[in-house]
Amino acid sequence: MKITSAEFVMSNSDVSQCPKDRLPEYVFIGRSNVGKSSLINMLVNHKGLAKTSGRPGKTQLINHFKINNNWFLVDLPGYGYARVSKKDKKTFQKYITEYFLKRKQLVSAFVLVDSRHEPQKIDMEFMEWLGTNGIPFAIVFTKADKLKPGAVTSQVNSYLQHLLDTLWEETPPYFVTSSSKHLGRDELLQYINEINRSITSG
Ligand code: GDP
Repeated sequence: MKITSAEFVMSNSDVSQCPKDRLPEYVFIGRSNVGKSSLINMLVNHKGLAKTSGRPGKTQLINHFKINNNWFLVDLPGYGYARVSKKDKKTFQKYITEYFLKRKQLVSAFVLVDSRHEPQKIDMEFMEWLGTNGIPFAIVFTKADKLKPGAVTSQVNSYLQHLLDTLWEETPPYFVTSSSKHLGRDELLQYINEINRSITSG
């Protein structure tokens, strides 16, 4: 998929205020500092579209970007950041939960995990919650350039094996990416493109 336009539409914390368009929507979420803003900017070829984190946990909003006038890319706040107060965490959970459960346009989530890290409890719980609620998702392994190619493969394989051992009989779709090396971009956009096509033709 060629990106011809990427525009910021709105930020808010209320799912009922999200854009009324019925365009398919893809949401990106993960722990703070996982590389989400960098990945979004890499995908849409736009350096400053999603702000890379000055202070993690600061941007606690649902951010809608319209891509190619054809689909929405949604940037959700990074979770699991210790400096967010307990009260903020609760509010955060509530509107994020509502977004996932109520947003009919949502087609798929992309859960970002750092390729270098072992499976983290918070990510496991979140993916399990998505699965329980029937919300399709794919895993995006980030910062693959920080490992040697062989190490990327073994990290990814053991991550997926962990999912098979603990959560599901099949692994979700997954992508290995590096924003600094532009890795995984074509595959991820192709995946979104194919889903968009199947929606419009079906
Ligand atoms: P966010 O908090 O999840 O939005 O993460 P950012 O995109 O702001 O990235 C967090 C840090 O990781 C920044 O210092 C980025 O420069 C760095 N980073 C993000 N993606 C990559 C990547 O693919 N490779 C490398 N080497 N560093 C990355």
